[in-house]
Amino acid sequence: PQIETVPLASLVAEVYEQVQELLCGQELSSQIPADLPALRADMSQLRRVLLNIVENALKFTPSTGCITIVASRERTEHIKLEIQDTGIGIQPKDLPHVFDRFYRADPSRTRLSQQIGGSGLGLSIAKEIVEAHKGKIAIRSAPGEGTTVTLWLIADTSKMAESVRH
Ligand code: ATP
Ligand code: MG
Repeated sequence: PQIETVPLASLVAEVYEQVQELLCGQELSSQIPADLPALRADMSQLRRVLLNIVENALKFTPSTGCITIVASRERTEHIKLEIQDTGIGIQPKDLPHVFDRFYRADPSRTRLSQQIGGSGLGLSIAKEIVEAHKGKIAIRSAPGEGTTVTLWLIADTSKMAESVRH
């Protein structure tokens, strides 16, 4: 990856802008602390990861639901990013496989997902990219309640080091 300094708030704004046309009533929001450090990441690859995850959240969340991105600092050098939705969720039997290439949960389980397309690659690509960044990705879900994808990424601590030096 081509590592650069990526301010999270503007990246999230870009991704939310990009999915406007996919919205059918769901509410998008984010909680990003003003003093959160930037990320060290490949901007275009990370945009792709977030876009994949937010697209999933929208596909599997009915119009009355919401998608929220919550960011926080974890230890000194990590940023935790949670992408939460209040959608149909994932069955426990499917959950261990969603990062596999071409895996899609049984589409017959709900009316909503019958009309939903996809090749089952989004999350496997997201995992590859995140791991190439020395980050981590995890997913948890409750059927009928929603899904949360968590990313741990590397924070840009150079500003902090500077303020310590001066
Ligand atoms: P693609 O991303 O290639 O367009 P896809 O969205 O089906 O296709 P993934 O993004 O890899 O593939 O997701 C794999 C499967 O995991 C999905 O088909 C769906 O069954 C399940 N899934 C992923 N995200 C969610 C979510 N937020 N809510 C419910 N199910 C999800
Ligand atoms: Mg997808």
